[in-house]
Amino acid sequence: MRVLLFGPPGVGKGTQAKILSEELGVPHISTGDMLRAAVAGGTDLGKQAKAVMDNGNLVPDDIMIAIVRDVLASARAARGFILDGFPRTLPQAQALSRIFADLNIHEFRVVDISADDEEIIRRLSNRLVCPKDGRIFSGETDGVSPGEPCPLCGTPLTQRDDDREQTVRERLKIYHHTTAPVIHYYKKSGVVLSINGTGSVDDVKREIKLMLRQSHTA
Ligand code: AMP
Repeated sequence: MRVLLFGPPGVGKGTQAKILSEELGVPHISTGDMLRAAVAGGTDLGKQAKAVMDNGNLVPDDIMIAIVRDVLASARAARGFILDGFPRTLPQAQALSRIFADLNIHEFRVVDISADDEEIIRRLSNRLVCPKDGRIFSGETDGVSPGEPCPLCGTPLTQRDDDREQTVRERLKIYHHTTAPVIHYYKKSGVVLSINGTGSVDDVKREIKLMLRQSHTA
């Protein structure tokens, strides 16, 4: 099972990726999580990435491509993966095709989740993260606030710096201008599964699993 999760920030890629990863038994590879770990660890990559991420901009392609090449070539990804947050530009998509060719990967699906901008701004301004394991909660539906304990492990929940409304608007602008057109790169090879991301977490998960099953038996 090799899946690329595609869609705007805040559409639920991270939430769905975590669930699918557990249920399908393949690792969740999130470029955003990897960058945030580098920022938290104070590595050279983290220092370079922090200002870019805080402004809602994209980290340069060459850096991202090298990171993804390494992780996909590792033993961890050998039996499949859910790739979340990559590719975000056409050069990244082209590089991923070369990486797949080098690794002899021919079978994969792109799950394209959509939601409108106002829904995304509402969701992200309510989004809280457990800094311990990256689990995502909603102030709205889970009834939690920043600083309150994670319902699962008790670590105080935080809001991501880039979930401030102004930064979210910038991230959406970049998504529409640079990332959304990348889907055309995949549409011509018939690997795209389009999912409406406005339902409940459970409904969206069921829809993704159904479409993945149908596309593998088609
Ligand atoms: P995410 O958690 O996927 O929303 O990513 C958070 C931030 O990390 C993005 O807003 C970008 O600044 C950076 N980032 C993550 N993945 C990529 C990528 N594939 N290309 C460039 N920047 C990325």
